[in-house]
Amino acid sequence: MFNSLQGRSAIVTGGSKGIGRGIAETLARAGVNVVITGRTQADIDATAADLADVGGSVTGVAADVSSPEDCRRVVAAAVERNGGVDIVCANAGIFPSGRLADLTPEDLEQVMGVNFKGTVYIVQAALEPLTASGHGRVIITSSITGPVTGFPGWSHYGASKAAQLGFLRTAAIELAPKKITVNAVLPGNIITEGLIEMGQTYMDQMAAAVPQGRLGSVADIGNAALFFATDEAAYITGQSLVVDGGQILPESPEALADL
Ligand code: NAP
Repeated sequence: MFNSLQGRSAIVTGGSKGIGRGIAETLARAGVNVVITGRTQADIDATAADLADVGGSVTGVAADVSSPEDCRRVVAAAVERNGGVDIVCANAGIFPSGRLADLTPEDLEQVMGVNFKGTVYIVQAALEPLTASGHGRVIITSSITGPVTGFPGWSHYGASKAAQLGFLRTAAIELAPKKITVNAVLPGNIITEGLIEMGQTYMDQMAAAVPQGRLGSVADIGNAALFFATDEAAYITGQSLVVDGGQILPESPEALADL
């Protein structure tokens, strides 16, 4: 039996949509009071309203994680509303496609600014309350793309997701004496609003590459994040957990042929 997380305080960046929304919902169902962020106020308001009755409170702050000032504002709001910060889920991310030959300095700056720098800024901004909590948790949403696999059009994205893990390993050492753990979830292909817009045929093709024969749900990622947030995961730090239904395992398409 796991200790209750009832009354803990969490920030989920990019919690207004997709995987972040799933993480926010899972934490709130466990009784955690969650502050979600995103740049679009309407999405934040809609998600906060949808999740109003699941358990812990869900409130929003419009913020851009590539701005250190915005990240400080988010942390201040969580401290004011929920009495501190126990859990930071650095989840906000973008994945514009661009082939290597076409990538501009602006493309690189945008992807690294949100995915990598945004991760660092929200963790930096929350260091004081995370330390004060005595059981701080940093949970990063990385990806299999970059740290483990590649996909044409995503060289910059993959690099930003791998950069998160480079950050994680040293951050985990520096923050260990403060009893803050730093871990990452590496999702495979997860069903989000964006993926649904690609159509059923596309989703079926993606699912066919997964040994379990299905795409992941945002709850699959939320549950992994929830585990890292527990007291029982206190001795796990600097680690990354692939959550992909076995997608990275086949060494060739033939490995899936006779299933
Ligand atoms: P999504 O549905 O597009 O949601 C992204 C969230 O991040 C939204 O809430 C978005 O809100 C927010 N966001 C984007 N840029 C932001 C910024 N500069 N500042 C603050 N918030 C920002 O994406 P998703 O698929 O859930 O992806 C979430 C994370 O999972 C990303 O880090 C992604 O790399 C990772 N991931 C996703 C998959 C997948 O299959 N979906 C697989 C592996 C990894 P606004 O647009 O309103 O700002």
